[in-house]
Amino acid sequence: MSLIADEIVRFSSVLKIAYNFLTGRAYLKRKKFREKQKLVSVPLPFSDLPFAAGTVPVFPIRMHNFKINQYLTYLGTASNIFGWKGVSNFLSFVKNLGISEVSKIVDDIIEDVIREINEKYNEMYDIGIEGGISSDFCYGLKSLVGMNLSKSRNVDAYMNVTIRCSAFNKYLESLSAINNEPRPIWIDIPPRNIGNALELLTDNVSHALSDFEQLTGNTISDNMLRNHFNISNQVKRAYNTIIYDISASDFYPCNPATFSEIMSLLNITFIDYNSNATRYRDNMNSLVNEMRERIRKHIGMDVSDMPRIFVTPIFGGWEPKTHDYIYELGGRALYADWGLLKLLEELPISPSNNPVEEYARFLLNATQTGIGCDNDKLTDSYLRMAKELNADGVVFIQLFGCHSISNCYRMLRDKVRKELEIPITAITFNKIGENIEQVKTRIGAFMEMF
Ligand code: SF4
Repeated sequence: MSLIADEIVRFSSVLKIAYNFLTGRAYLKRKKFREKQKLVSVPLPFSDLPFAAGTVPVFPIRMHNFKINQYLTYLGTASNIFGWKGVSNFLSFVKNLGISEVSKIVDDIIEDVIREINEKYNEMYDIGIEGGISSDFCYGLKSLVGMNLSKSRNVDAYMNVTIRCSAFNKYLESLSAINNEPRPIWIDIPPRNIGNALELLTDNVSHALSDFEQLTGNTISDNMLRNHFNISNQVKRAYNTIIYDISASDFYPCNPATFSEIMSLLNITFIDYNSNATRYRDNMNSLVNEMRERIRKHIGMDVSDMPRIFVTPIFGGWEPKTHDYIYELGGRALYADWGLLKLLEELPISPSNNPVEEYARFLLNATQTGIGCDNDKLTDSYLRMAKELNADGVVFIQLFGCHSISNCYRMLRDKVRKELEIPITAITFNKIGENIEQVKTRIGAFMEMF
């Protein structure tokens, strides 16, 4: 892991994003109690309306106390004085001195961030199981139940956007049984491409906005929606640049294991933008700039001979060691779930567009062409993404308990072999750390094909 730490500390934006993720609890407490803002729980990247409405979206795990390496705490304090760029320069300088004890401290910081997030996910999973969720549910849902059992008392509303997964929709319905204090704000997405789907969904988005108005007591204007869409478009642009331009290129600004680590951090933090859209936008923009600057100076790694392995889906849970094994065996793991699901599409913000309808169109497009209404559409999305990434192979994560998207593997395997003519394999997943040996063996056999 020291190689990973060595690289990550050179990206001040990554330190900031990790720090903002881990210190969410203090930030959210301040928002709720001092600034009297409303907190809205979001389980997937549907934070646009909460932000536009002037509330604070939160992926509930961030209300937990994370054990933060004491040095990261010092760095956070130091960043108030010197800025994160100064902190990153200082850390790079320290690493370059080659003093092993000091160097180890920096390694420990990054290791702690990654380990702590994974352990917290597993802790949520255990709370979910203890709380009585059936063991038949997937890792993601068990963890979400754990997050809500432990923290829903702090939120004022649930942002409930239905998706094609019936288990997920049942989970949304069960939230009121866990805690009926927060107001459920529903956006029901018509599941099929029926004639008036857009009209129905536009209506549903309007209702959700009325619920937000009742929650805050403030009116939401079209301009408030457009202003937030403008910020989220910039986040998406930066994210797309990292996925399509940088991760698919032949020269990386860091080693591929570090790159995958950054991509998995973005995968989690994109859900609620660490509860602050402008701060997240700025961090994403500086991440792109830092990456480009390193590539321009030819600092990083030539990865032209390393096969691109598209690992997906990871949003419901996966073994994070997967990318380490792929890297150790000469490949590079690419993560791009949100692009695959069409959640990185920009929203039109021209005054001539109706922003409510545009948001409905965005949700409909994600439902019908991203995750798809059926396995045929969904597998086409995987195929499209693999093509766009120019992938040399696909590792499909089959979640225990997922009857909605994991069961398309056979269809996907046939399509990938026939249409892309590249290798594909599946790895089963139940809980982080539980199946490491099998992941290692499976990846080992898979990587021999390259
Ligand atoms: S992993 Fe499968 S079961 Fe779990 S929420 Fe996603 S689609 Fe539903």
